[in-house]
Amino acid sequence: MDKKTNVFQGIPASPGIAIGKVFLLEDEDFCLIHREIPKDAIKKEISRFKESLARTRSEMLATQEKIHKTLGKEYARLADAYLLILEDPIITRDVVKRIGEGVNAEYALFRILEKVVRSFEKIDDEYFRERKHDIQDVGKKILNNLMGKERRYLTDIESESIVVAHNLAPSDTISLRENLVKGFATNIGGKTSHTAIIAQGLEIPAVVGLKNITANVKEGDTIIVDGNQGIVIINPVQEILENYHREHEIQQSQIRELQKLRDLPAQTTDGHRVVIAANIDNPTEVKSVLNHGAEGIGLYRTEFLYFNRNDLPAEEEHYQNYLHVTQKMLPYSVIIRTIDLGGDKFVPLGLEGISEEDNPFLGLRAIRLCLKYPSIFKTQLRAILRVSAEGRVKIMYPMISGVEEIRAANRILEETKQELRREGIKFDENLEVGVMIEVPSAALSADIIANEVDFLSIGTNDLIQYTLAVDRVNENVASLYEPFHPSILRLIKSVIEAGHKAGKWVGMCGEMASDPLLTLVLIGLGLNEFSISPLLIPRIKKIIRSSSLLNAKALVQELFESKNWETVINRIKKHPTP
Ligand code: PEP
Ligand code: MG
Repeated sequence: MDKKTNVFQGIPASPGIAIGKVFLLEDEDFCLIHREIPKDAIKKEISRFKESLARTRSEMLATQEKIHKTLGKEYARLADAYLLILEDPIITRDVVKRIGEGVNAEYALFRILEKVVRSFEKIDDEYFRERKHDIQDVGKKILNNLMGKERRYLTDIESESIVVAHNLAPSDTISLRENLVKGFATNIGGKTSHTAIIAQGLEIPAVVGLKNITANVKEGDTIIVDGNQGIVIINPVQEILENYHREHEIQQSQIRELQKLRDLPAQTTDGHRVVIAANIDNPTEVKSVLNHGAEGIGLYRTEFLYFNRNDLPAEEEHYQNYLHVTQKMLPYSVIIRTIDLGGDKFVPLGLEGISEEDNPFLGLRAIRLCLKYPSIFKTQLRAILRVSAEGRVKIMYPMISGVEEIRAANRILEETKQELRREGIKFDENLEVGVMIEVPSAALSADIIANEVDFLSIGTNDLIQYTLAVDRVNENVASLYEPFHPSILRLIKSVIEAGHKAGKWVGMCGEMASDPLLTLVLIGLGLNEFSISPLLIPRIKKIIRSSSLLNAKALVQELFESKNWETVINRIKKHPTP
């Protein structure tokens, strides 16, 4: 019998079409999936929870017995703390109550434990505060029993597959290349989440924000991930499958056609020249950058160096990575962005006081973290400075909210330079320093900021998130994430004008720079550099080469002077440029 075809609409995160077999990743986050339990099944769900408690208890007792035999009574007592948590009547009562409200056991348990962990995090005493890890450990043991399976990891993938998961963190995505992953589909996430951006860099088609895809697929199902339209099809009928294979072929030939523009300048028909650079998330992408004809790297995200490890990267590791990229990119320059950890790229860093925050995007992120821990910052700055003696590099600070942060970061940069001078280590004394404009306060004071830096680069992914108060990774508010919002276009206009007034060049490294619908608007506004995913360079270059600056300026004038903003926007959206 044919398997049932299911079609899901999500958010397109990385373009392209992937067809293959499902690898279902039921990771720890699996428990986050909220399933409604019908009234008549609640009793059974409560028993399921209680059985998993009992099973976990016997496992713990068996472990305790083993410890007793091998290490002695004293050590075995340590396991008592775990048993106490497991048998805590308040936790059990609260979970049962949530299940009684129609919530599945995994989700109920996860939520209750999360609350308990939060309250432990607030305790002043370090010893008690650290007990939260015991609670999390016990929670995982119960969850493993509830789900009745061992956890699987991405590294378990043995043949070409398409990963279906509740969520993938940027740290998971960055390691996908080695893993035969041809595409992925996730329940949660937004278009400009770092997971999506990394997938683009790796040229892996992806759809995110599918809400409940994990509950609707089985291991080994045939799946189509259409990263262009944000559609996922499970067990397609033969006709659909053939259509998609054909569509895939057509797209490949269009890509080959666009590739012919590779060595031509990004210049309008009336001779206005801009720079098209690339964004990269790790050094392996340089090959693709050069293949697609980028004239430099406008954003080198350096967070990958901190993923999937328990220690901090040493100066030499930074140095070797940057050296590799800058040497390969010569004669073009590379803008190395100092670390932007935090937000959706949480890494504990093994530092006292760094824990997951309630509002990570508004928390200790990027430059804030660097200013709080100058030694981490200096390690990176030393490596960048050393590389500046050998390749063409520029530094860019992320998440700047005002000039004070720039000055504080520059003071640390100056101290680092002094150290290198004392040690007789060479660096480029004229190394340019710029900032990302991605916080509304920075955009609104871009005229002041522009006087303190060598260049500005607009980070629209965050600028939209912070201006419109829309979480960039939350699929539930994805429809409110609107690059065409008048406030966003006005901010971009004023940042470009402020930069130019101060005699500085202005680039854009957020995803808006690669939206074909906006290319002409950005040209008309005078943007100097478009820094985008390598894959999208030919398409944007084609638009620029087919239009005139005069036209682009007229469009901008119409847009900003229009009494009816929406009509102009709708027209742009309806009549995409070539
Ligand atoms: C941005 O915010 O637009 C940006 C380019 O930085 P990131 O996506 O890494 O936050
Ligand atoms: Mg950003």
